[in-house]
Amino acid sequence: MLKLEDSYLHKGQRKTLIATLKQKGISHPGVLEAMNTLPRHFFFDSALLSHAYQDKAFPIGEGQTISQPYTVAFQSSLLDVQHGHKVLEIGTGSGYQAGVLFLMGADVHSIEFNERLYKNTKKFLPRIGITIHHYHGDGSQGLPGEAPFERILVTAGAPVVPNSLLKQLSVGGVLVIPVGDRNTQKMLKLTKKTEKHIVQESFDHFSFVPLLGEKGWTK
Ligand code: SAM
Repeated sequence: MLKLEDSYLHKGQRKTLIATLKQKGISHPGVLEAMNTLPRHFFFDSALLSHAYQDKAFPIGEGQTISQPYTVAFQSSLLDVQHGHKVLEIGTGSGYQAGVLFLMGADVHSIEFNERLYKNTKKFLPRIGITIHHYHGDGSQGLPGEAPFERILVTAGAPVVPNSLLKQLSVGGVLVIPVGDRNTQKMLKLTKKTEKHIVQESFDHFSFVPLLGEKGWTK
């Protein structure tokens, strides 16, 4: 049975992790505050607990990972969520990133392809006070029934920017998505200035598990 205790030791380790993120260039106050609040060790198997505050990705089962804290911080900073924003996350995974967005005040809609992860996370997040909307299915084409979104975040590596995601973004909205091959991807930020005018900025390379599905990679 998972122990949901946030000890002084964990809080201290979290502070050290936040200091590391700052050293690596993360400065968004809302992101740093949310990550300092959310106990990352709650998302870990008991066998891996001692690794929870390392700046590393870790396995969460089903061949998937909880993203590296720096990656979560980087993507969340680019997304720049404001209180009340309707946000679509593609790739719920452990639910950690969704938790960060929730603590930043977002109305989070998160979709996961893997049924076991979807079920586990849907059951787990409310236990730690994180209430988001969970969906099971292929998020590579977004969630048309819930669009438009002010922010869309893809947490798996995509081969291209799916057009459907840009369509589901409201004007003024931001899409953050890693795009590249199956091993490394460039982080892209696309801002929808008007219905027809999209501004694209590109950032560092990252290494995500592949986005599967219709607009992603085949298994
Ligand atoms: N955001 C997660 C977290 O905080 O733990 C980490 C996400 S993990 C790097 C990528 C996730 O994307 C995996 O759980 C994977 O099953 C999921 N995924 C891959 N393709 C998907 C798709 N087409 N739709 C929804 N989820 C997908």
